Amino acid sequence: MNVPFFRVDCSGRELHYLQQVLESGWLTTSRFAAQLEQRFAETLGVPHAIAVNSCTAALHLAVEALGVGPGTPVLVPTLTFTATAEVVRYLGGQIVLCDVDPRSGLLTPEILAAALDRHPEVRVVMPVHFGGLACDLEALRAIAEPRGAAIVEDAAHAFPARYPTQDGSAGAYVGAGRSAACCFSFYANKTIT
Ligand SMILES: *Cc1c(COP(=O)(O)O)cnc(C)c1O
Repeated sequence: MNVPFFRVDCSGRELHYLQQVLESGWLTTSRFAAQLEQRFAETLGVPHAIAVNSCTAALHLAVEALGVGPGTPVLVPTLTFTATAEVVRYLGGQIVLCDVDPRSGLLTPEILAAALDRHPEVRVVMPVHFGGLACDLEALRAIAEPRGAAIVEDAAHAFPARYPTQDGSAGAYVGAGRSAACCFSFYANKTIT
């Protein structure tokens, strides 16, 4: 069996939109970027969504905005793509690695609490919603925030995905969870693309 790296799923109007952008003379922002931001925010039910060139750029801007700089300790799970950790290094921050749950592949509240007990100096925590499965953000916030650590969600694999709930009902969309920032990707093999 040959498993493709990705399969493009197009509605058929992409070439039409692309032509409109090219003919508008605005190759970068155009009106489509503003529309994407507005409709993305509406879909998630959040006040702001900002389009940048990649999830890596979004993660980089988020940790920079939170003041990560030389020596700032940032907690990153071991199971992720390089971007989650490398943006911390772009700023000279110090990566503190922690494990994930072996079954779900997610950062759990128990693992986070133990990691922050070992590393109380951590200022930012970067949970990764892995393979379309979302971490329990409410529980992670309840542990991290009282200890002075902000949360930046790596949601590259998680649009659209929903947070887990106690009773198994449909939770809010990942991105609506009131962390400091939640970063998504439109790269070729991500869920939305
Ligand atoms: C792909 C990926 C990124 C980076 O996304 P880009 O849009 O390619 O920059 C970040 N985190 C995780 C977990 C990813 O899988």
